[in-house]
Amino acid sequence: MKKTVEDDVAALHHLIAHSVVEVTAAAVPVVVAVGYLFLVDWRMALISLVPLVSGLIVYQRAMAGAGTKYPEFVAWLTRLSGAAVEFVNGIGVVKAFGTPGVASRRFQEISRNFARFFLDWAKATTVASVIAEILLSPPSVLVVTVAAGGLFTAAGWLPLTSLIAFLVFGTVTTAGLMTFMMSIHPLVTALSVARGIGEVLSTPELPVPASPIVPDPAASGPVVRMRGVRFAYGDTVALDGVDLELERGTVTALVGPSGSGKSTLARLLPRFDDPQQGSVELHGVDLRDLDPAELYRHVAFVFQDSALLRMSVRDNIRLARPDADDEAVRAAAAKAQILDRLDTLPRGLDSVAGEDAELSGGERQRVCIARAILADRPILVLDEATAGADPENEARIQDALSEVARGRTVLVIAHRLSTIRGADQIVVLDEGRVAERGRHDELLARQGLYARLWEHDQRAREGAAERLEAGR
Ligand code: ADP
Repeated sequence: MKKTVEDDVAALHHLIAHSVVEVTAAAVPVVVAVGYLFLVDWRMALISLVPLVSGLIVYQRAMAGAGTKYPEFVAWLTRLSGAAVEFVNGIGVVKAFGTPGVASRRFQEISRNFARFFLDWAKATTVASVIAEILLSPPSVLVVTVAAGGLFTAAGWLPLTSLIAFLVFGTVTTAGLMTFMMSIHPLVTALSVARGIGEVLSTPELPVPASPIVPDPAASGPVVRMRGVRFAYGDTVALDGVDLELERGTVTALVGPSGSGKSTLARLLPRFDDPQQGSVELHGVDLRDLDPAELYRHVAFVFQDSALLRMSVRDNIRLARPDADDEAVRAAAAKAQILDRLDTLPRGLDSVAGEDAELSGGERQRVCIARAILADRPILVLDEATAGADPENEARIQDALSEVARGRTVLVIAHRLSTIRGADQIVVLDEGRVAERGRHDELLARQGLYARLWEHDQRAREGAAERLEAGR
């Protein structure tokens, strides 16, 4: 996207601002000069075109493969910058764990292959393009004109004055052509990036219904119902045949091994994606029939990677209610267990995220929770990942989450099973399918996947506690 929006659009700039002017400036003198020379003496004019025509034929030979080579060249450049970004992003990890050279290997390999491709291409075309350039250079034209013109004049076929016209204007033909060739390259680039920009622009938008249906929150039945949901990322099936109902005011926890599809399922509710099969319904209305603005009046979310926008902490919290006063913002921040921390910031609520509000991951998550509390939507989707948070932070996030969950219909992605023991419904996902569902005790009694996950979780906790003890 960055390449398309910045680099490609800049390349288009050349097409629009320069190419037309340059090509016109290069072409007009050639056309006028050739026309004039034909008026003076058509036979000599034909002869003076010999270097031009032969030069063009050779040049075309040199460029014969460019049609297929050029897109390949662009693909290599894309690959190369991808590898460079990957390499630079990983430097921190490499420093900490790295065997020198391992991480840069991919980058080196790609640059080496690119160099090989480019050299092969250059080698195959060098001789022909050098010959073409020699033929198309003004001295070649001069040699031909002087030789042929001299003979013609000596034979009395051409007046001396006309020969002078050929000597002066003959070279214009190829000089203009070289400029023309020079501006062809950016032209070709611009045309190919225009295709790329077109592709991005033609990516379908999230379809919005022409006549949206407004759901009735008072309708009976579950608040959210998913039926036969299937979702795949390319060939990776992340969800298959998932049915799920969220009853009003209940907490539903999604658990399952890593990669079982929890995040994918949770992302369908705020309609970050549409399922490829099946449906997600809010109060009986398919999300695809809702106005997105209406959907967000019902659903709030706090995700693990919930980001703060580069604006004041106050505006971050009142993103959904820009007119909320300070009292409301502070009350939400207090419920989210973050108010005391915000008060220690240099400019309090005016501090700007990423500038003078340097918050830890756990603190940022609590700001996002304050945002959800203030937004006050009846449905909440949350990723209670507290991984990475220290124990104090974790406890406070848990408190903040219980606060925000009160009285709402909640769908929570649970990473630590101990925190969701009290959930009204626990849905255990396994490889994109619902393996089990029920309450904590029922699931434990079933001795299935949940019981195994629970045992694992407990052991991990005990192990951590023991290690902590041993370390003291
Ligand atoms: P969980 O949240 O339970 O760890 P996810 O919903 O993140 O599981 O992932 C489910 C499956 O979909 C996994 O196999 C994962 O590799 C795959 N997956 C998740 N996100 C993407 C993505 N953006 N592109 C491709 N595959 C993905």
